[in-house]
Amino acid sequence: QPVAIEEILSDAVERFSISAEQKNIDISFRFNDHLPKIYGDRDQLDQVLDNLISNAVKYTPEERSITVSARRRSDGFVVVAVSDRGIGIPQKDLALIFERFYRVDKARSRNMGGTGLGLAIAREIIEAHGGSIDIDSRYGWGTTVHFTLPPYVPEVIR
Ligand code: ATP
Ligand code: MG
Repeated sequence: QPVAIEEILSDAVERFSISAEQKNIDISFRFNDHLPKIYGDRDQLDQVLDNLISNAVKYTPEERSITVSARRRSDGFVVVAVSDRGIGIPQKDLALIFERFYRVDKARSRNMGGTGLGLAIAREIIEAHGGSIDIDSRYGWGTTVHFTLPPYVPEVIR
């Protein structure tokens, strides 16, 4: 069923408004007009956004910012970015970060809670939707996760 990505994103940002506020983190949300609808499972896509935004909030110190944005790529795909100015991920860990149960440095993760499944689940869901997901990070500076989703193409009635 066709879903509006703007709505999924703004609802997700809303769900994290209290936990972000508790850390004085501002989550801003931007999207271009005329985003195509995408074809997807609302509950699963909510899960992806919850996993990505919860990471951004969890791994970002107080007073820093998070940005959630969406744009239409020239091939029609929607590109979503969840970007933070948090602790970042060391280069050596980046290639492994989507593996189930993989967490950067047990010491830093231990007191954060979680199991190391969030990104693995996000990747499974996005790929099942025909999209892709990747992560960019600079240790000590911040992290951006991008994912794409194909546009909904209405069936032509002949
Ligand atoms: P879970 O999501 O199951 O609660 P988790 O957050 O540890 O646990 P993932 O979401 O899969 O697991 O993330 C894997 C690891 O990647 C995290 O433990 C953390 O070290 C690192 N990570 C993920 N997102 C970020 C981020 N935005 N900034 C810094 N590190 C991150
Ligand atoms: Mg997580």
